[in-house]
Formats: sequence, C-alpha cells, structure tokens
Amino acid sequence: MAATIIDGKELSKTKRSELAVEVEQIKSRGLLPKLVVILVGDNPASVSYIRGKQKAAEEIGVGFKLEHFPESLSENELLDVIESYNNNNEYHGILVQLPLPGHINETAVVEKISPLKDVDGFHPINIGRMMTGQDTFLPCTPAGIVEMIKSVGVEIAGKNVVVVGRSNIVGKPVGQLLLNEHATVTYCHSKTKDLTSYTKEADILVAAVGRANFIKGNQIKPGAVVIDVGVNRLDTGKLVGDVAFDEAKEVASFLTPVPGGVGPMTITMLAHNTVQSAKNSLESK
Ligand code: NDP
Repeated sequence: MAATIIDGKELSKTKRSELAVEVEQIKSRGLLPKLVVILVGDNPASVSYIRGKQKAAEEIGVGFKLEHFPESLSENELLDVIESYNNNNEYHGILVQLPLPGHINETAVVEKISPLKDVDGFHPINIGRMMTGQDTFLPCTPAGIVEMIKSVGVEIAGKNVVVVGRSNIVGKPVGQLLLNEHATVTYCHSKTKDLTSYTKEADILVAAVGRANFIKGNQIKPGAVVIDVGVNRLDTGKLVGDVAFDEAKEVASFLTPVPGGVGPMTITMLAHNTVQSAKNSLESK
C-alpha cells in the first residue's frame, strides 16, 4: 500500500491558526509580539526563505521587520545591530539569516543573540537546555519534524530512529529531540560504512543530507516513517528532497513530500518560538 503523505502545509495551517488565537490573547494584554530578521547580502535562497517567514508572521498577526544590510557589513557592525535588538523590548525574536558572508564569524554572531530572543534555537545555551530536556526554544526544523511525526499518531518511544546527516542545525538536534522522546537513535554521516545496513533498520528515517534523491526505496524498511528534510534543485529547476519520493512511497508507511513537507513546518515553528518568547516576556513582567 502506498505511504500516507504527511502534508506539512496542512499541518502548518492548523498550527498557524492556533498561533493566531494566542497572538490575539497576547495583544489583548497590551503586547504585540515582534520578530526581526537580519539579512546580510543578497543570497537569493535567503531572500526567498525570509519571504516565507514574513508571510507566516503576518498570517498569525506577529509584527515583522527585515533589517537588510549590504554584503560589506563588518562583523562588529552586525554584533552592534544584534546588541541593539537584544536591548529593545519591542522585539521578542531575533533571527540572523544564515549563511553569512565569509568575513563574518557565524559562531560569534549566534552567541551574540540573547538566548531569551534566540527563536532559531541555535544559541549554545538553548542547545544545552534542549539536550538536558529543559523548556527552551527548540531549533525550528527538528521541532517541526517531531510535530509532523506526532501529528500522524506514530509512537516515538522505543522506535529505532536513523538520522542521515549530523549538521548542527538539523541532523544533531533532530536526533536529540527524538532521543528526548525515548527513541533509540543512530546517526549516519559521510564516513558511515554500509549506510543501507542502518537505514534498513530504521522505524523512523530522517534524511538531512542535501543530495537529490539520495535515499532509494530499497534502503528503506517496509512500513517506516520517512522524513525528508533535503531541499535540492535539479538542473530542470524542479525541487526534490533527499529521498527518491516515488520509490519511497511504495515502501514507507508515512512520508513527507518536498516541497510542502518539512519546509512549511520549519517556518511555523519559528512563528511558534516568537509567540512563546512574547508570552515569556509577559510572564516576566
Ligand atoms: P549539511 O551540508 O550541513 O549536512 C549534510 C550532512 O549530510 C552532513 O552531516 C554530511 O556528513 C552528511 N552526508 C553528506 N554526504 C553523505 C553521504 N554520502 N552519506 C551519508 N551522509 C552524508 O546540510 P544541512 O543539515 O544544513 O541540510 C541538509 C539538507 O536539508 C539540505 O538539503 C538543506 O537544504 C535542507 N534543509 C531544509 C530545511 C527545511 O526547512 N526544509 C532546513 C534546513 C536544511 P558529514 O558530517 O560527515 O560531512
């Protein structure tokens, strides 16, 4: 039987309407939740991602500001901009769009953002809190993936999870979040020997590699839940994931599409974190 598609757009729609209600409640207490996105340079993919973030913010009634600087902005100038938003009570979320130009140290920038406004969930303090299972801003893509799995009623506890990819923004944290949900987690990466021997054992397989159609149908355990994080543009202009969709559909029980899967949920979780930050600021008053 063909896999059930986990529709990230539909799930996002539901989550965003719930968030819109929360934003109304926050506004009724005299606070407008606001997000600032800082972009350095004109990377076309970044510009397109930011458009999606703005749309989500507007949809749920969150204030949105884009601070767009030329490629030549120095690291110190960027750090000063971040500091000014750290100290600006009108803004609850600060997101610096990555990647940054080569002359700027990304680690220094991520660490400059106040952990209280780090709605991307990349600050080491928030990563540490996530690892120790504390309440914090969770990184958006991994948090969206957990939501997607839960949305179809799949039990995570006790499952064999295999994550292909170990980046700091996707692979590592999604494995950690699923471990927090009591899965048994294995990470695979470019040095893994005999990748298929791992993927074939996965009840839940997360592909975050960045290679078009990399995971084939015969590498998937029948009945597995397959989460495709990859976004790859073919020469034809078509967007595809890291999983060979048509093959996987015949083997998996649940499968996320590209586009329309993890991408929309990532943006929805950013909106969620911004609303959460505004709520935190109300509670700390
Ligand atoms: P990175 O390039 O940072 O990481 C890729 C990972 O894949 C690395 O850990 C790498 O291993 C591993 N890898 C590469 N080749 C192989 C191989 N042959 N076998 C096994 N593992 C391999 O990418 P990201 O994690 O940032 O992103 C992954 C994909 O997800 C990209 O397509 C990106 O566009 C997409 N993405 C989508 C998002 C969304 O919202 N939908 C959000 C973020 C990313 P090693 O560490 O050994 O080099």
